[in-house]
Amino acid sequence: MTYESHHDPAELDALAANFTVLPNPNKASDAKRADIIDKPAFGQVFSDSMAHMTWTKGEGWGDRRIEPYAPLKLDPGASVLHYAQEIFEGLKAYRHADGSTWLFRPDANAERFQNSAERLYLPQLPVDDFLGSVAALIKEDRAWVPSRREYTLYMRPFMFASEPFLGVRAPEEVDYCVIASPSGPYFTGGLKPVSIWVEDQFFRTGPGGTGYAKCGGNYAASLLGEYRGIAQGCEQVCFVDAATKTYLEELGGMNMMIVHKDGHVETPSLNGNILPGVTRRSLIQLMADEGRDVVETMIELDQLLEDIKSGEVTEVFACGTAAIITPIGRFKSDKFDIEVNGGKPGELTTKLREQLLGIQMGEIEDPHNWMWKVC
Ligand SMILES: *Cc1c(COP(=O)(O)O)cnc(C)c1O
Repeated sequence: MTYESHHDPAELDALAANFTVLPNPNKASDAKRADIIDKPAFGQVFSDSMAHMTWTKGEGWGDRRIEPYAPLKLDPGASVLHYAQEIFEGLKAYRHADGSTWLFRPDANAERFQNSAERLYLPQLPVDDFLGSVAALIKEDRAWVPSRREYTLYMRPFMFASEPFLGVRAPEEVDYCVIASPSGPYFTGGLKPVSIWVEDQFFRTGPGGTGYAKCGGNYAASLLGEYRGIAQGCEQVCFVDAATKTYLEELGGMNMMIVHKDGHVETPSLNGNILPGVTRRSLIQLMADEGRDVVETMIELDQLLEDIKSGEVTEVFACGTAAIITPIGRFKSDKFDIEVNGGKPGELTTKLREQLLGIQMGEIEDPHNWMWKVC
């Protein structure tokens, strides 16, 4: 089949053209780059270039550039180092069979970045600059987008308050950057269900907090719980709501879905504590397209455990850009330890993962025009 972009690539070209390119004079050699792309270590190695913009209270956003990837110069008094005024995004560049490079719903990431900025009292980045910066970086470092299935160039846009000032106030100088890291398949050798630690003492967020914003602080707050789980032999942590310790919310960095035996699916509703995942939203749409009943609701932990034991719940999985879908094979805390679906990935879990990956890789129809061609 021919895979057409429903978003005009010329429009993305025009947004990318707002960025001045300062080429890296010391690009990685073809051999070195090929080696890195072949055995990517997620988030440890970065491409030759980065996108960069600055904002000041007086001038607004400016200085759009693609520059050589390099350490930042930061004053030790920079606000972000003291008060954590930082937000980020995560999306991937995919290479299709014909060699072209694509993004999946970058407009949704751009919009969420604005919502995160608003919550952290950072200036909003125009959607056009978000799209332009990501596209310009992919164009400059196009050779870094891997071509093997499930290999992608992970794009990490982020923004932080950079002015040297130890008073707590709205930022007056802000930096925005995009960096890119080649990433490989999350699971090598088939889908592996993970064990989840259910944390009910140390929370990543709470009512009125920053749960719905993609900010570094949420991750800092999640680590103690995460490592309590790791000490118990689990791979990931899942948080219950801080107010009542009754309802399941999400993992440290992924949303969660629960499949019932009659085929309907439940997922925690967006109550302000939960990050509204693009993957979550997309899977809900794909399931609805098939006439499957998907319910966004409060999910009681005790009920879920009972339903897993009785066979009422047949599959549980986590979802997010990095792993697309991660099957959950076990829930553990100091009060229980229970297996889901015999610790095997479920049928719907596997099918949805293939479907979404198929759309992202340009192998199957993209019924909602989610894919944007870059170059
Ligand atoms: C990024 C993130 C997700 C997943 O969002 P996607 O847009 O699907 O990648 C879920 N939870 C948290 C806490 C996140 O930071």
